[in-house]
Amino acid sequence: MTDNEKYSNHCIQMFEVYSQYLDGELDENQRTEVEHHIETCSECRACFMTLKKTKELCSKMPRVKAPDDFTSRLHSRIRNILDCK
Ligand SMILES: [Zn+2]
Repeated sequence: MTDNEKYSNHCIQMFEVYSQYLDGELDENQRTEVEHHIETCSECRACFMTLKKTKELCSKMPRVKAPDDFTSRLHSRIRNILDCK
């Protein structure tokens, strides 16, 4: 059994909308279909949970904040460089 044979055609269709589901881009009917499929199909549930986790981790990645004096230091450094020319 290859990986592809584990999944039905329906599963493959579902894979394409999981990401949209998580982004809230599906209408009511499509959401219900996805939810129903995830409940009944353990392969898809595992796949869906992995996708969901990945998205959550990505959204929680801290943004690197520049120090407050970054801009003024950058400007003075640029001025120094310009002055040297
Ligand atoms: Zn499935």
